[in-house]
Amino acid sequence: MSEILKELTTLSHDLGREDRKLAILGEGNTSADLGDGTFWVKGSGSSLGTMKPEQFARVHKREVLDFVEREASEQEVQDFLQACRVEPSMPHPSVETFLHALCLELGGAKWVGHTHTESMLSILASKAGAEPFLRHIYPDVIVVCGRHVAVVPYVDPGLELARAVRGELIRFREAHGKGPKLLLMVNHGPVALGQSAREVFNILLMADKWARALNGMGTWGGPQYMSEADADRIDKRLDEAFRRRQILGGKP
Ligand SMILES: [Zn+2]
Repeated sequence: MSEILKELTTLSHDLGREDRKLAILGEGNTSADLGDGTFWVKGSGSSLGTMKPEQFARVHKREVLDFVEREASEQEVQDFLQACRVEPSMPHPSVETFLHALCLELGGAKWVGHTHTESMLSILASKAGAEPFLRHIYPDVIVVCGRHVAVVPYVDPGLELARAVRGELIRFREAHGKGPKLLLMVNHGPVALGQSAREVFNILLMADKWARALNGMGTWGGPQYMSEADADRIDKRLDEAFRRRQILGGKP
């Protein structure tokens, strides 16, 4: 088994551990780019916490990206997901394969993890939506999850969601000159875009802590947001860049 597939299986187990409350049952999915025009993505219907290497499908990235441009019926989407596999013996890829291909291509990620984090759903599925995550409450979030987060409104999972994500990734890159580390999907959950499996795990853990901190603030009068200038300063500080490398095991 390849090192990447082994690491992807471990990452999935880490994200699917029930006590972490990031994903239960069939929720969430993971992917890893192989750098040869293909990527591994979770098979449809399998559970992150119990994933076996043979429950991932390896798919052709270009074909998946091209299909996002097309109008297709539900049946055509399912037929395509079968057809984009490298080997027909591999499992049926997740319907979020399109979203993963976009994060790996336009988002600049090498590893992607998506969960339905309980603490984040308390906010993303509330009347507040993604709004509380648009400003910062403490420095470590900026270091791990990025100075800015990408956001998409609720849209039907599959092709329609992929197109919304494509639009947001293009907008984000134009606005900030790089891809996001964290994409928030309203009424759905977070997506972490990392350069390593470790980075994906860290982003999702920190995003969970961020949401839990926000959820606990009602008693104390709501968040006291950092100023934009202070958030910018943390984002640019050299010692934070060093810390980011230490924490993420990847590029600052
Ligand atoms: Zn989902």
